[in-house]
Amino acid sequence: KKIGIALVGLGYYATKQILPAIDASPYWQLTGIVTGTPSKIPEFKEKYNLKDENILNYENYDKLKNCSDIDVVYVCLPNGMHAEYAIKAAKAGKHVITEKPMANSVAECEAMIKACKDSNVKLAVGYRCHFEPFNKEAMRFGREKTFGEINYINSMFGWRAGNPNMWRLDGKLAGGGPLMDVGIYSINAARYVKAMEPTSVIAHFGPITRPDYFDEVEESVSWHMEFPDGTVFTGFTSYNTNVEKLECYGDQGWFEMGPAFSYGPLKGKTSKGPMDLPVVHHQTYQMNGMGPMFLSKDPLPDHISGLEGLKDIKIMMAIYESAKAGGKKMML
Ligand code: NAD
Repeated sequence: KKIGIALVGLGYYATKQILPAIDASPYWQLTGIVTGTPSKIPEFKEKYNLKDENILNYENYDKLKNCSDIDVVYVCLPNGMHAEYAIKAAKAGKHVITEKPMANSVAECEAMIKACKDSNVKLAVGYRCHFEPFNKEAMRFGREKTFGEINYINSMFGWRAGNPNMWRLDGKLAGGGPLMDVGIYSINAARYVKAMEPTSVIAHFGPITRPDYFDEVEESVSWHMEFPDGTVFTGFTSYNTNVEKLECYGDQGWFEMGPAFSYGPLKGKTSKGPMDLPVVHHQTYQMNGMGPMFLSKDPLPDHISGLEGLKDIKIMMAIYESAKAGGKKMML
């Protein structure tokens, strides 16, 4: 039997990326939807043969506990809504996958982890790069010391925002600007290449060049982070610049990826030659990877779980604290 999954929010990511991955996977079946837009319902109801009881909205979401066909909910809402809808799902006895960033604060992440633990349900964060060949290779390079000990990492991820009305510019819904949206990929990558947690960070906000866009969230932010073995990690994220790289230098060579994190096609090269890896649909790999993890009685691997999401949020909050204090060194 396939795992019944409900999408919470039917926006871009849910319908254009995750849904095709569910459709392509032998493990998952869409058995429910949660939407605030009734006009979206007929199409889904017909295509997936959804029962009326499994079609919910944000007001009657608590009825989730009666939806026996729904095993897992996938929260694809604006960042500021992840915690509420994950916690309510846990209380309804449903396993949870939530999109990145896990939530807007450390307290929210901790509450999500507690709610899932108390209800004995799993909590995953949709870190698709953990299932993607280029990023898995980067993890392997770090682990197997293919280029010696990596001691300098530089990573940038940004894109040029062109819609002043998007929720990503709303402080409450987004929790921050490009750092929360895409800078998180650089942070997560440095952590998985090093398989270590950073110990300190110094960060600076970039200038506001478009005040009509950036009155609630940062336009750009850069950081200098250190790991316990002395590795330095510098990074930059922006809603003004189209940039996407992961560069890792070791004492015996280097590798770099760019595009490194988006849907690609990803590319990479190393001091030993090109990274010749398959270009895949990340979300299909993610859902196929997560399938057996949700079928199993075992807990999720830590790096797929809420614990991983919490670690990135802690670091990003320290970046904001440092930048707000004009570049004060924050210990992590
Ligand atoms: P989106 O705007 O396309 O979709 C958001 C959905 O939430 C819409 O269906 C919208 O109707 C609904 N919604 C409910 N209440 C809302 C409110 N108050 N304001 C705005 N929308 C509301 O956004 P998206 O790009 O699909 O992003 C959703 C989540 O997915 C975010 O957390 C984002 O970070 C994440 N995401 C992840 C990836 C990835 O590659 N892993 C890519 C894109 C987005």
